[in-house]
Amino acid sequence: MATLDFSIEFYPPKTPDGADKLRVARAKLALLQPKYFSVTFGAGGSTQQGTLDTVVEILGEGHDAAPHLSCVGASRESIRTILKQFQSHGIRRLVALRGDLPSGYGGAGELRYASELIEFIRAETGDWFHIEVAAYPEVHPQARSPQDDLQNFARKVQAGANSAITQYFYNADAYFAFMDQTRKLGIDIPVVAGIMPITNYTQLMRFSDMCGAEIPRWVRLKLASFGDDSASIKAFGLDVVSQLCERLLAGGAPGLHFYSMNQAVATTALWERLTAA
Ligand code: FAD
Repeated sequence: MATLDFSIEFYPPKTPDGADKLRVARAKLALLQPKYFSVTFGAGGSTQQGTLDTVVEILGEGHDAAPHLSCVGASRESIRTILKQFQSHGIRRLVALRGDLPSGYGGAGELRYASELIEFIRAETGDWFHIEVAAYPEVHPQARSPQDDLQNFARKVQAGANSAITQYFYNADAYFAFMDQTRKLGIDIPVVAGIMPITNYTQLMRFSDMCGAEIPRWVRLKLASFGDDSASIKAFGLDVVSQLCERLLAGGAPGLHFYSMNQAVATTALWERLTAA
């Protein structure tokens, strides 16, 4: 497992208490020795300082860390300033995204798509950053068609992305089909599978509606049947997601990126299950 491209995602805490809890979770997750931790970025720059502070803190603890950076609603000048900040802190890896603005937020900004952000980052900073981008095995919800979405993924690679992380999904075949299609287009960057542990039925359904992740009918029905029995939801979720990870790795996925939701327990349980296998 040590050779796997294995990473863990956090969001920047909003309160001092949240920051303390994240430090505790991070100390536990660091024991798993991920390749790096990543920290999300609120579209429109809403978490800009929190993202940077969290990344700098992680780097200070001796672990590699990658800020996410989204361009929606931003100007070229504001992105330039952020890139300079990242460089001044010795940050060498980032996750470049378009982002989603909350409705009523205002204009889309000067860079409309992630591919334009990547072009801008490369023009401004050359090869300084290792750039990760998002990939959608189940198709981005706003894409005109699956083919169009794939072409748009190819644009991000042509613009200079080094590797990709997928949106989470529970259907391994969607990932394998996506990988076949990217190979046919001559894309050969690593596409790490994004993994969302299942711990809470309501939250999972809400997120999945927003980001277009399909919950297989049998998984949904089974989760719903547990009602408030959180222990059963977690145990079943651990089985489903660890089997998904095993299938992905056996089928050639180069690594896993865990959406930790700033919690250590579910990601650690998954990792222990996978490494015990
Ligand atoms: P893009 O690659 O720009 O694609 C967006 C849509 O536009 C797609 O439908 C695509 O097909 C289409 N498109 C792209 N280029 C063109 C073009 N030239 N012409 C026409 N259509 C085009 N959001 C945040 O706000 N903060 C985060 O920190 C964050 N982290 C994430 C991390 C990961 C690993 C993933 C998978 C998602 C993350 N998101 C984050 C969510 C992401 O911002 C949304 O999914 C967003 O809707 C799309 O971002 P993108 O970078 O994939 O956009």
